[in-house]
Amino acid sequence: MQHSYAISDIKQVINAGGNIVDDTIINTLLTDSRRINNPAGSLFFALDGRRDGHEFIADAYTAGVRNFVVNHRPDTIMPDANFLVVADVLAALQALAAHHRKQFNLDVIGITGSNGKTIVKEWLYQLMSPEKSIVRNPKSYNSQIGVPVSVWQVNETHNLGIFEAGISTTGEMDKLEAVIQPTIGVLTHIGTAHDEGFESPEEKLSEKLKLFKNCKQLIYNYEALIDHKDELKTRECFSWSRKFNQVDLYVFSETTISGKYYMRAMYKEKEIECLLPYRDEASVENAIVCWATMLAMGYSPVDADDRIERLAAVSMRLELKHGINDCSIIDDSYNSDIQSLEIALNFLNQQNQHQKKTLILSDIYQSGLQRDALYKQVAQLVTTKHVDRFIGVGTSLQEYASLFNLPQTHFYADTAALLKELGKLHLQEETILIKGSRSFEFEKISRALVQKAHETVLEINLNTLLSNLNFYKGRLKPGVKIMAMVKAFSYGSGTFEVANMLQYNKVDYLAVAYTDEGVELRENGITMPIMVLNPEPESYDKLVVNKLEPAIYSFSLFDEFVKFAQGEDIINYPVHIKIDSGMHRVGFEAFEVETLCDLLEINQYIRVQSVYSHLVASDAEQHDMFTMQQIKIFETAYKQIEDALGYTVIKHISNTSGITRWPNAQYDMVRLGIGLYGVDAAVPREESGLQPVATLKTTISQVKKVAANETISYNRNGSLKTDGKIATVRIGYADGYLRAFGNGVGRMLVNGTLVPTVGNITMDMCMLDVSNVEVKEGDEVIVFNEQQRIEELALQIGTIPYEILTNISQRVKRVYFYE
Ligand SMILES: *Cc1c(COP(=O)(O)O)cnc(C)c1O
Repeated sequence: MQHSYAISDIKQVINAGGNIVDDTIINTLLTDSRRINNPAGSLFFALDGRRDGHEFIADAYTAGVRNFVVNHRPDTIMPDANFLVVADVLAALQALAAHHRKQFNLDVIGITGSNGKTIVKEWLYQLMSPEKSIVRNPKSYNSQIGVPVSVWQVNETHNLGIFEAGISTTGEMDKLEAVIQPTIGVLTHIGTAHDEGFESPEEKLSEKLKLFKNCKQLIYNYEALIDHKDELKTRECFSWSRKFNQVDLYVFSETTISGKYYMRAMYKEKEIECLLPYRDEASVENAIVCWATMLAMGYSPVDADDRIERLAAVSMRLELKHGINDCSIIDDSYNSDIQSLEIALNFLNQQNQHQKKTLILSDIYQSGLQRDALYKQVAQLVTTKHVDRFIGVGTSLQEYASLFNLPQTHFYADTAALLKELGKLHLQEETILIKGSRSFEFEKISRALVQKAHETVLEINLNTLLSNLNFYKGRLKPGVKIMAMVKAFSYGSGTFEVANMLQYNKVDYLAVAYTDEGVELRENGITMPIMVLNPEPESYDKLVVNKLEPAIYSFSLFDEFVKFAQGEDIINYPVHIKIDSGMHRVGFEAFEVETLCDLLEINQYIRVQSVYSHLVASDAEQHDMFTMQQIKIFETAYKQIEDALGYTVIKHISNTSGITRWPNAQYDMVRLGIGLYGVDAAVPREESGLQPVATLKTTISQVKKVAANETISYNRNGSLKTDGKIATVRIGYADGYLRAFGNGVGRMLVNGTLVPTVGNITMDMCMLDVSNVEVKEGDEVIVFNEQQRIEELALQIGTIPYEILTNISQRVKRVYFYE
């Protein structure tokens, strides 16, 4: 039941120029040339993103795409391709989606707010899917591009749409409104944070409310819109509140009953109730929004309560973990629609650590497609995404087994059958994507395949890493390249998982400290250029075999490398020249450059790829004069070198803090290190939008009552002021939680409260004063996250964030998330 449009019709809808050489039928909108599954039926939009989409037309053409929306034709001649020429490619995408939306007369819920949009969308989907056929945004595809792509999925089988809209500046909501055309509006939590893209919180709210301008009904929190009463007048409103009683749903009582959250409310002058399986503040508010929406849409209070009590947690993230037998496991057992399957398969392809790619998939429910068409699409997707081994679970997949033409396939009737045979599959050194509908309980499979985790984990959010990368991309002058520093296990965040993400997102260079680090990246599928900062002469052969590029910082290193190259008959090997402009660590000093130039002039064995230097205090105003002096020394040196070489090289001096503070020193490339991981001393935190990438978590192993006169831990340094209780947690100095944090210097977050350490930190454990917190064994404890940042930990013990991050020992498991 896939819909389609003739390209000639699309041309009219988006009001495009250009002529049509072949009137094809389009059913797929393509915005990323790396994600092509159905080239013949795809229409590629050359969108202006961080990079100009027109650069990717050739790639898409090579992959078989013949239909393009562009704002100018490419120079290369592609005689059999249709080019629709428009002034604004994004506007064309939105216009086409809006046109598509208009073909259907269904109820559409439009959701916006500062927080909770995705959860509320997914929960409403869970709550209403028993009787509705629902179409919604995959994951949190709620942007100017994500919304039209989401709305494009609407077809005849649907009778309800649920779409979330996210904006970052003024003028954006009108465009999303035109695409979604919501009939029912839902406003989620409104934060008070002052966003970069808006003058004031009021402006932000007014912009968001534009989503509802044509809604016949609006569901909202009374307090949030107290100052916006005029904007509400013309429509049917359903308000809720936990404070005021002159509303449609007045929640007047909230208590916790055996781990659940029990709410009572007044609705139509009657008392109603609702039990929620979660009790954190965000979940409670999101659930009230859902409760109000159900009532507003005519569900009975009894149905609403019944269904809300069974709400399942929403996890939009893919988890990447180390598995048994050297496997990598990508766990995505929450969603199993075809869109999210595609997203997960893209992630599978992005992680290149193992040659072999395996998919464990369950039957898919509620796709809005006929089963034949659905499994044909699944099989096609599995083939185009280069899955090597397919493991299907469920009777429908069994029935359609013959569609899957892959080297290895296995089918099982249910999860229990697969679990019984799991050992016989000999899963080894492969990347395994686990994806199943909730009822299949695939978490059992993931538990069986994932290495048993020591309960202290470092979680790395790859989306945040990407948004930090984009933050810096946005601050570079046009054409400036990025070298991402992934030395020291990517500042403790892991090696190839991070590198794969950076490679996929087209960073220009990677840098590691030692040859071995580079070799490991090569062995895990990293093919992009890699510079080695400290290449040891003993490792030159490994370096060359793995196409790693050495930094040459002294005459002896230079001589040894040239001798090695000579011996191996290598010519023009790419190297990088390091200038010491003031750090006085390694590098050629200004007075040595002339001699270096003499050597370079007559040398055929190497080719200088770049010349660089390192700033010692790019973030510190008091050293700005010194920084300027460094820049000057560097300029003199690279000019001399380029003169001697007779060709130009890539020049770079800036590290993270230099990027924003010294824009004139960006030259051809910047070396982005700690900023990627969310820390930058030069950028004020509020305005930067940088987010910490890592969360360090542990768990409570025991809770003890301790009297005021007793002592805690080694050498009896710790005690409580009054009788109280302590929690022992599974992290110690061997994990990287240094002894300096002991005796109240360090703090951890226990169930939302910051509590101090007591006594000395021991090797594998330490103790926290939890006298004033409700805790039990097994509770999660946060060492650092976006609330208690690495910067604060660094301050507590008088060090720098770099050291906190890189100290986290390798025995702490890394888990990666991708949303
Ligand atoms: C580590 C390193 C960087 C990155 O520094 P950040 O402050 O983390 O951005 C840049 N250049 C060199 C030579 C480095 O060793």
